[in-house]
Amino acid sequence: MSLPIPTHVRYELLRPAQAVARRQECPVAYLPAGTLEWHGEHNPLGLDAVKAHRLCCVLADRLGGLAMPPLWYGDNRDDICEIVFGPQRIASVEKDHSPLIAEKMGLPAGTFQAGGVRNGVRDSWEFFSELVERTLYQMRTLGFEATVVLTGHYPEHGPAQAAADRFAAYGQMKTLVVMEHSLLLEQGYQGDHAAKWETSLMLALSDGLVDLGALSDDRGEPNLGVLGVDPRGTASAEYGLEAIEALVKAVRAKVGQLLAGTP
Ligand SMILES: [Zn+2]
Repeated sequence: MSLPIPTHVRYELLRPAQAVARRQECPVAYLPAGTLEWHGEHNPLGLDAVKAHRLCCVLADRLGGLAMPPLWYGDNRDDICEIVFGPQRIASVEKDHSPLIAEKMGLPAGTFQAGGVRNGVRDSWEFFSELVERTLYQMRTLGFEATVVLTGHYPEHGPAQAAADRFAAYGQMKTLVVMEHSLLLEQGYQGDHAAKWETSLMLALSDGLVDLGALSDDRGEPNLGVLGVDPRGTASAEYGLEAIEALVKAVRAKVGQLLAGTP
């Protein structure tokens, strides 16, 4: 039971008159960001951007405004599951998952680390932050009065917020930078990596992209590259739909404040 994803709010698919009419009715852009990253054996590799984009489509459909195409590239490649998933970077993870992830991807061990080292030496997150800042200027040029940036890949949140802070000095468009769970913490919802939360959202937002059968039946065996509540037996479209309703409500209130100019 997944949610139909509306296409009439997708900016890139609209003809000019259609986009202008929607923007004049509600001058809000929803800008999703995500990346390509291992999300367990049961989820698609593009989960973060697919999740963020589909949530943006639902938000624009329910609240007005337009969903923009996702920012897929330009993130710090040293901050991905294929590299960080071990005790050296995450205290609660017992062993390094990266060799087995590389093997499952049919790539030599160490391949992702090489990309991470290159990124760390060059610019880490600065490039992505600059990309978001430029995109915010573009949103303003396109006539939006507010932009909601939804970072599906959580490490993108800080650099995106830094971009919004720099952009704020320009002062011509309101911005809100959120992760899909960040307005819902008081209600007990928490983000995770490919675990109960993200898997449930994907079950609610997609037909057939998730295959829980790809995970081992042996509950004693940890899921590869999954961080949070074990999705086996807990993830469901129903839980995802409930969370999406809470998100729509929370964003409605925030966007109302943004457009009214109240903090
Ligand atoms: Zn994710």
